[in-house]
Amino acid sequence: LTERLQKTFAGLRRKGKINESDVRDAMREIRLALLEADVNFGVVKDFVKRVRDKAVGSEVLDGINASQQIVKIVNDELTATMGEKAVPLNKSDKIPTVIMMAGLQGAGKTTTVGKLAKYLEETEHARPLLIAADVYRPAAIKQLQVVGEQVHAPVFEMGTDTDPREIVRQGMAKAREDHNDYVLIDTAGRLQIDEKLMQELADIKEIAHPDEILLVVDAMTGQAAVDVAKGFNEQLEITGVVLTKLDGDTRGGAALSIRAVTGKPIKFTGQGEKMDALDVFYPDRMANRILGMGDILTLVDKAQKNFDQKQAQELTEKMQANTFDFNDFIEQLDQVSQMGPMEDILKMIPGMANNPALKNFKVDPKDVTHIKAIVQSMTEKERTDPDVLNPSRRRRIAAGSGRPIVEVNRMIKQFGQTKKMMNQMSNGNMAGMDQMMGG
Ligand code: GDP
Ligand code: MG
Repeated sequence: LTERLQKTFAGLRRKGKINESDVRDAMREIRLALLEADVNFGVVKDFVKRVRDKAVGSEVLDGINASQQIVKIVNDELTATMGEKAVPLNKSDKIPTVIMMAGLQGAGKTTTVGKLAKYLEETEHARPLLIAADVYRPAAIKQLQVVGEQVHAPVFEMGTDTDPREIVRQGMAKAREDHNDYVLIDTAGRLQIDEKLMQELADIKEIAHPDEILLVVDAMTGQAAVDVAKGFNEQLEITGVVLTKLDGDTRGGAALSIRAVTGKPIKFTGQGEKMDALDVFYPDRMANRILGMGDILTLVDKAQKNFDQKQAQELTEKMQANTFDFNDFIEQLDQVSQMGPMEDILKMIPGMANNPALKNFKVDPKDVTHIKAIVQSMTEKERTDPDVLNPSRRRRIAAGSGRPIVEVNRMIKQFGQTKKMMNQMSNGNMAGMDQMMGG
């Protein structure tokens, strides 16, 4: 989390209400934070626009919880962009399930093959066969063999003189013969996307019919990750992504970029060189990491709690002083839609939390709208001094709010009862609670 961003949000929170320039300021900071996290420029632009549209379109501008709403919108949008939930590996209904790696040289393909083998052994007691289809560097085969030994998985290899297509063909046959339930194909990479490699990978895909083509991307490559992901996806139609080297100091913005550009789920992340350094990808956690939203959300949560407590405190005082009027009533109702149910606010009043009468107390949002309309048709005098509500005033209110007179009468009666009950409650008398809560 950048300090700037924190300051901006702290500023918003203090103000309580925010206007369009506040939204603009917040969006500028979010944009910077995303760019600092190495999210691709174009992706940032789109993202910020989406968040802004949502922020301005919602009731942020006149809400009391404006900053909370923006933070939440940003957080939700980040998470949603990256896919909400963890996406598991594709699985074939008959063995073997074939997983093929793709990616630039040094991205972490060979390492990830080992990690995946270990992961599958541990989570499914699987017996994977690893196929060594990178023949361009003599060390590549040796490396896969070392990895295979570490995770106790057999490696199929034919040296560096055989065409990778042939290796895969024979490796697949071997896996079928040995009844391996998984085949993990390690492939070659290049420093950049090139035609010859892409053709080779496309041919391997044709031969092995992989259930999963995992693009392995180094998270440290930042901005460049987008072009790589786009290129591989267009030519191979990848099914998922493994983002490696997240143990480095990158904030992981590549995750957002890749997902936004390819639409393909990130399935795992690499968190180190060891064979157990593989994690299932969780979009919400990644959202936290990219923007440092965890800090903000905690801050906002705390602010929200203080705010709620202050509200509850004021409510208690009004109940005790018996000055709870229609203005307070409608303010409470507003919060039903703004920050959570009135029953929750009531529960914050000392001694109320475990009150059985509150257990089934619910406010219907439609009723809330109607009640609001009625109160809004009252004059200030009527709101603060409900005793003046004679029949002619009530008729006027009914006409003004478009609600039937019986409903107006019922509402005023209920308000009177509520007020009486509140007063009794605040003085320690809990009798009649059921009645107050609508029976
Ligand atoms: P390949 O060329 O795509 O097969 O990449 P390798 O699997 O050979 O990995 C290249 C280098 O990155 C090796 O030194 C790996 O140990 C290292 N590496 C791979 N994944 C990770 C990771 O998640 N974190 C860290 N820190 N290093 C990794
Ligand atoms: Mg390799």
